[in-house]
Amino acid sequence: MRSLTLAEARERAELIAVTSYAVELDLDRGDQVFGSVSSITFTCGSPGADSWVDVKARSVEGATLNGVRLDPAGIRDGRLPLPGLAADNHLVVRSTMGYSHDGQGLHRATDPADRRDYVYGHLFLDAAPTVYACFDQPDLKAPYDVTVRAPQDWVVLGNGAASQVAPGRWELATTKPLATYFVTVCAGPYVSVLAEHDGIPLGLHARASLREPLESHAGQLFEVTRQSFDYFHGLFGIRYPFGEYHQVFVPEFNAGAMENPGCVTLRDQYLFRGAATRDELLSRANTVSHEMSHMWFGDLVTMRWWDDLWLNESFAEYMSHRCLVDATEYSDAWVDSSIVRKVWGYGAERSPSTHPVAGVAALDAQSALQNFDGISYAKGAAVLRQLISFVGDDAFLDGVRAYLRDTSHGNGTLADFLGAIERASGRDLGPWSDGWLLTAGRDSVSVELVTGPSAGSAGDPLTGESAAPAVVTSARLLRVPPADHPADRPHALDVAGWRDGVEVVRVTVTVTDDRTPLGDLLGATAPAVLVPNAGDLTWARVRLDDATLDGLPAQLGRVPDAQARAVVWSALIDGVHGAEVSPSTFLDVFAATWTTEANASILARMALYAEHRIVPHFVPRVAQAAALARLADSARELLGRAEEGTTRSLAAARLLAGTSDDETLLRAWAGGSGLPHGLEDDGDFRWIVVRNLAARGLIGASAVDAYRAKDDTLQGGLNALMCRAALPAPAAKAWAWEQLTGRHGRSNYEMVHLARGLWMSPDDALVAGYVDRFFRDVPGMSGWVGEDALSRVVLAAFPKIFTAETGVRSSAALRREDLTPGVRRSLVDADAELREALASRAAFATDFRTPVS
Ligand SMILES: [Zn+2]
Repeated sequence: MRSLTLAEARERAELIAVTSYAVELDLDRGDQVFGSVSSITFTCGSPGADSWVDVKARSVEGATLNGVRLDPAGIRDGRLPLPGLAADNHLVVRSTMGYSHDGQGLHRATDPADRRDYVYGHLFLDAAPTVYACFDQPDLKAPYDVTVRAPQDWVVLGNGAASQVAPGRWELATTKPLATYFVTVCAGPYVSVLAEHDGIPLGLHARASLREPLESHAGQLFEVTRQSFDYFHGLFGIRYPFGEYHQVFVPEFNAGAMENPGCVTLRDQYLFRGAATRDELLSRANTVSHEMSHMWFGDLVTMRWWDDLWLNESFAEYMSHRCLVDATEYSDAWVDSSIVRKVWGYGAERSPSTHPVAGVAALDAQSALQNFDGISYAKGAAVLRQLISFVGDDAFLDGVRAYLRDTSHGNGTLADFLGAIERASGRDLGPWSDGWLLTAGRDSVSVELVTGPSAGSAGDPLTGESAAPAVVTSARLLRVPPADHPADRPHALDVAGWRDGVEVVRVTVTVTDDRTPLGDLLGATAPAVLVPNAGDLTWARVRLDDATLDGLPAQLGRVPDAQARAVVWSALIDGVHGAEVSPSTFLDVFAATWTTEANASILARMALYAEHRIVPHFVPRVAQAAALARLADSARELLGRAEEGTTRSLAAARLLAGTSDDETLLRAWAGGSGLPHGLEDDGDFRWIVVRNLAARGLIGASAVDAYRAKDDTLQGGLNALMCRAALPAPAAKAWAWEQLTGRHGRSNYEMVHLARGLWMSPDDALVAGYVDRFFRDVPGMSGWVGEDALSRVVLAAFPKIFTAETGVRSSAALRREDLTPGVRRSLVDADAELREALASRAAFATDFRTPVS
């Protein structure tokens, strides 16, 4: 399907202005299709000109422009021609639309728990025409009147306050001007919890089978919602403009959440049905706050074109963390950002697909989707933090308020935003934005330290060694721009160091040169752990010196500053991916310090990273079992002494469940006996255990089905698919591949779970045949799977056999010219990860010599 180009969007926006939309949806026509009547009033600045409306329907039953019939047979590539526009126009399009199962458009899912159906609209990025005929571009905003017919036992929610005017008939209040991609309708037998804050009606909604977690989590969800409203009202100086505020937890959602004005949709895994770690609660609070900040930045003021999508996301990413730190119990949100969000962003920066934060020409709508990544979110937020240190927080906020005020209910651009900050600060941001916004890549930062004996130290008369620790005699910070993306990036950052748990140095510097003397460090006690960018204020590849790397197993656990520990872990991950740090070093530091880690985000996320990335990607195949056993040892140790019911206990139990080869323990836990306190009825935890049993071949398909019967839910079904696919038998792999790539109407989530399970194998030979089949079969799925969903499937299904042979196949695939942009982008990223694994394995093979017995 042809994608809207920037040139076309500019031309259409010059020509027409939309006055209003009236949309009637009929959701009571069965589970395949729904009716859609779109009635649009709009003006045309050049009467007599031609244009088109976007409509991607199963069939168009009728269309009239100013009372004159249009021929639906004229639709090409989802465009219905509109010939000879008048100054004032009224367009009506009646069509039959199809429900989607890939999370794009009007998604329909059946809840296996009660066989009831739910629909929700996710129209980002260009799926609006699959729900209603419209001028689908972000700068043609208009108010909406939406009416819905639905089965009588359904609840309907949308951007405007919904009222049921007759059984099965719903009217939504007229909205403020909305971009087409923000329109949503959520309908089904949703259950609700309602509240109010500061005059704003609040609602939380979920599938009927999730009533219990919805109700038990409502207190926390409302609390962060209230805190965020108060915070943003104070910060932006503009009241929330969209009436009621509903948060709908929906099934099989591709992203974390979507900022539809007045009716945010969120993935319903956020309604944790079992135990949740503190970092999971923090992530959820962060998502809630992120979507709320979009109500101003994104919704009230929308980017003119998709190339400024970063501005929405970078801003929301920054603002939600700021809000959590300033206004909620999650005052360590920046630590979580370092270990979760920035690790993601640094991965995106390492890939050949990296791009500047801003100014990337999105020539058409679909190509813009490719930049919806760790650069736009994590790097963008880090760059905003650098902008704030450059201009000052007061000037930044003054500029933001002016930008929001001047472009309210309209559209803005990067130039508008930077102009507002420049006026508020009196600073020229040209050179700054060239380096930080318009150039890809990141500098490396490291500290070059020379130490010597301290003056007056008596020394040991026998050994001649100094009794007092050495002191710093010379120190400078080195900034090395990347060769492929040179630029002058000034950094505001701090450097700190510890010895035996005591902070012995800390200095804040503004780096504008490739060599910056750190004079304040001279004479200080030599640190055992020295951390450049210790406060994680900047965006850079942090290189730890050799003495620090050597000292980490003994010293990291004693560093009291969680932010600095997070930077160290992030640097270790970066180093492993860059083949500069041995994965064995990572595992040594893990074994020595993980069980004493006090920060929930570091504790939980490093366990996941070690189990799911470091071992399978970077540890040679023959050494993986031993590496997993080391992780299991740490997990068992922590589980033995952690207080039950805490994040520490839960993170330890999950790591042990995923890595242990103790069949007795796994069978007991799967059967519900001997479980740590708080996990007795935790279906999600049981699936970690069952997955481990299945992947080791300790249970078969009938046992998986029996566990599925115990947990006949959407989550249970997905986990069962993954476990079936993980069974180490040729028939199981063949079945999984056929289910994944055949046209079985599998949903986006089902495909990803099948793909994950398939590559779990104790033996590469069992899955080797699927390397070629991946490159042959998966790209062609673009014929029936949406781009957003398929790009996720490609990442999950990319061969997890890290060999040069896979690399040859991957290179060949990247030379193909028939790949869609989403498939190509995911292949580039997965290929880059494969190369990283191969380079690391080549560099550090000797670290994993199998011991001679
Ligand atoms: Zn966002």
